[in-house]
Amino acid sequence: MKTIGHWIGGKAVVGASGRVGPVFDPARGVQAAEVALASAAEVDDAVKIAVDAAGAWGASSLSKRVGMLFALRELIRAHRDDLAAAVTREHGKVLVDAQGEVDRGLECVEYACGVPQLLKGTTSSEVSAGVDVRTILQPVGVVAGITPFNFPVMVPLWMLSNAVACGNAFVLKPSEKDPSASLILADLVQRAGFPDGVVTVVQGDGEAVDALLTHPDIDAVSFVGSTAVARHVYETGTRHGKRVQALGGAKNHMVVLPDADIDAAADAAVSAAYGSAGERCMAISVIVAVEPVADTLVEAIAGRIPDIAVGPGDDERSMMGPLVTAAHRDRVRSYVDGAADEGAQVVTDGSAPPDSDGFFLGCSLLDRVTPGMRAYDDEIFGPVLSVVRVGTFDEAVALVNANPYGNGVALFTRDGGAARRFERDIEVGMVGINVPIPVPVASYSFGGWKSSLFGDAPIYGPEGVRFYTRPKVITSRWPEPLTGSVDLAFPTSS
Ligand code: NAD
Repeated sequence: MKTIGHWIGGKAVVGASGRVGPVFDPARGVQAAEVALASAAEVDDAVKIAVDAAGAWGASSLSKRVGMLFALRELIRAHRDDLAAAVTREHGKVLVDAQGEVDRGLECVEYACGVPQLLKGTTSSEVSAGVDVRTILQPVGVVAGITPFNFPVMVPLWMLSNAVACGNAFVLKPSEKDPSASLILADLVQRAGFPDGVVTVVQGDGEAVDALLTHPDIDAVSFVGSTAVARHVYETGTRHGKRVQALGGAKNHMVVLPDADIDAAADAAVSAAYGSAGERCMAISVIVAVEPVADTLVEAIAGRIPDIAVGPGDDERSMMGPLVTAAHRDRVRSYVDGAADEGAQVVTDGSAPPDSDGFFLGCSLLDRVTPGMRAYDDEIFGPVLSVVRVGTFDEAVALVNANPYGNGVALFTRDGGAARRFERDIEVGMVGINVPIPVPVASYSFGGWKSSLFGDAPIYGPEGVRFYTRPKVITSRWPEPLTGSVDLAFPTSS
C-alpha cells in the first residue's frame, strides 16, 4: 500500500515514526493509501529546517518573492486538474467542485502577488522638530498552518500565500484524511523557485499538532477546523506565547422573508445545503422560514431534491459525492434517524443505505425543527437541511443571534430596508444578501464571530497580512547640524 509522506527541506521525505493512518477512497469505500503520522521529534527536525530558511527568506527582496508567487500562480493554473483530481479521490467531492476550490485558493496567491503594495508602511515627517516617524512590517518568523479535510487545497492556500509573501517560513500540517494535495502544492512551490525549507509539509494527527503548538520556534499558528479543536489550538498556542488565529465550526442560517423570490431562494438553499455533501463550513444547514412562506418554500426545496444525482466525484453525471469516511457518514445519518423522535418532520429521508460500498448518503430535509433538537444544536456537516419556522423578522434575527456559532448567514428578500436592518443587527461575521455562500473574495478577509473564530484575526486578505507581520515604529532624528543637549524630561512633540 502506498504511504504518503512529508515534504521537508525542499524534498519528499518518508515518515520515520512507525505510525500511519488510513486514507480512503470514499466513493468506493476502500482504503486507498496510508499516511505517515509525524512524531514530535520529526516535527522538531522539520521546524529546525524552517527556522534556518526563515532568516534569509525574510530578508529577501519583495521583487524576488513576487517573481516566485507569479510562477506559483502559473504552476497551480497548469496543474489545476491534478490538484482537483487528488481532492476528488480522497475527499470525494465532485470534480467541478474540486476545481472551484482550486480556483478560490488561486485567488489568494494572486492577492499575495501584490505584496509590495500590501507591505507598504506609513510615514510622518517632522512630528517633532527634525523628527520623522515611519512603520515597517516585518515577518513573524516561522508560522504553522493546521488545516481541515474539507478544503485540502483552498484552506492551505489561504494561509501559505500571505505567509510566504510576507517573508515567513510556513509549516503546513494538513488533514490526515486527504493529505495528497498538500504534496502536489509543495512540489509546485519548489518548482516555482522558493528556497528549500520556506514551505514544509508534516503529515500527522493530534500529536504533530501539539508538537507545533508547544514548539518554541513556531511564532504563529493559523488553524481551521472544528470548534472543539480550534479552542484547544487557541488555548494551547497562546499559552505557549504564540500568535494564534483559530477558525472553528459553523451552523449557517438562511433567512427567507415572505417577499423573497421563492424559486431563487429554493435554488440557493439546495445548492448551498447539499453542495460538497454539506461538508463546507459555509454550507447552509438551517432555513429560517418567516411565515407565511414555509409551506411553499419547503415544497419548492423538496421538489428539487430528486434531481440531485449522487455518485462518485469522478463521474461527471454526479452532482454530489460521498461523505469523507464511513464513520462520518454514520454520524450524519444518526441525525436523520433520530429527527422524528425529537418531533421534527422528515420531509425527505436520504439516509437509506445506498447500493454502493462508497460512503454515500442522499439529501435529507427536516421541517419543523426547533432549538434543543440535536439536528439544530449540532454542526452536522453533511447533506441534511433543517427548516425552522418563525413568525416574524425579529424572531428570525433573535434565533440566529442566540446560536453559539457566527460564521455565515444569508437573507433572501426584495426589501432593502429589511436587508439593511439585518446587516446591522445580525451577530455573524459573514453576511450574504440574496447570496447563499458569502465567502469573501481574496481582497477581503474571512472570519466568523463567537464559537466560529478564536482570537481576533480573520484569515487571508488584509487581516492575513496583518497576522503574518509585526509592525515596528521607527522614530528618527537626523539633525542638521547637531544641536541637541542632555534633557531628562519625557520627550514631547514640539
Ligand atoms: P478537525 O477539527 O477534526 O481537524 C482539523 C485539523 O485539526 C486537522 O489537521 C486534524 O489533524 C487536527 N486535529 C484533529 N483533532 C485534533 C486534536 N484532538 N488535537 C489536535 N489536532 C487535532 O476538523 P475536520 O473534521 O478536518 O474539518 C471539519 C471542521 O472544520 C468543521 O467543523 C468545519 O466547520 C470546520 N471548518 C471551518 C472553516 C472556517 O473557516 N471556519 C473552514 C473549513 C472547515
